[in-house]
Amino acid sequence: MNPILINEQYASGAADSRRTHIMSVDVEDYFMVEAFADSVSRKTWNSRPSRVLTNTLRVLDLFDKFNVKGTFFFVGWVAQKFPELVRNVHARGHELACHSFWHRTVYSLTPKEFREDTRAAVHTIEDAAGVKIYGYRAPSWSITKECLWALDILAEEGFAYDSSIYPIHHDLYGVPGAQRFPYTHQLRGGQSLLEFPPTTVRLLGQNLPAAGGGYLRILPLAYTRWVFREFEQKYRKQVVVYFHPWELDPDQPRIRDKWRSQLRHYTNLHKMEHRLEFLLRHNSFQPFKEQVQSQAAVEELAVLETARALHE
Ligand SMILES: [Zn+2]
Repeated sequence: MNPILINEQYASGAADSRRTHIMSVDVEDYFMVEAFADSVSRKTWNSRPSRVLTNTLRVLDLFDKFNVKGTFFFVGWVAQKFPELVRNVHARGHELACHSFWHRTVYSLTPKEFREDTRAAVHTIEDAAGVKIYGYRAPSWSITKECLWALDILAEEGFAYDSSIYPIHHDLYGVPGAQRFPYTHQLRGGQSLLEFPPTTVRLLGQNLPAAGGGYLRILPLAYTRWVFREFEQKYRKQVVVYFHPWELDPDQPRIRDKWRSQLRHYTNLHKMEHRLEFLLRHNSFQPFKEQVQSQAAVEELAVLETARALHE
């Protein structure tokens, strides 16, 4: 696959003064999260009361209200159970992408298992909607230093971009010191893969996570607003927002687990919709694919300019 198309903003040379940020949703059910992995066996997924369909439809209505398009990273299991939801997301103008099949951390898999899981998810999502997908996001940001081989596999499997490497210290994930803004992995065999790290800000010499999931839900809205201002005025980059449909569902069944997991999962669920509405009202957003297209256009142009310089 080669999603090289020049997007309208790039082609028209439009100024980038009012930044369009990136909106993404990881489509999974409340019981699939890594925080509850010790308490919830995958064998029980089928028998648990699923809420991902209703919650994702809520997200879609919210996006429609503000005319926002985003990228929906589907867990393959969800796509298999609710193919009509995959079609609905696509029909409403959003980008479909892959969030694994079984929502297992990449560092817990062998390369062979990772490839099989990814293929199963891609086939399920693509078959449901009848379109090709280009983007991958690992469950729980689990592409870490131990499993960078996953990037080679993603490129080999035809992905154009990844959004899995969190440049922070965390007990479950992260590559401290990794780049904070979009970059390109140069891989074996001359392949490449674009990387879109989730948003971080620099404070007191550290990278702090922001504008996604629990950080968006638990930290004060004033912090998120400051992050958007930093990105627009200082960094002149796009904020990558991510969240999960279950984060808008304060009535979801409660799962008993470690206090820290419960705190992460259940704090401020009732505030999330309001926070998202605030962001959607005051900012503009686009899916990753728009950015991949303009990035590809920039690289194409660089190649053309090099060729022209050599010719002159
Ligand atoms: Zn996830």
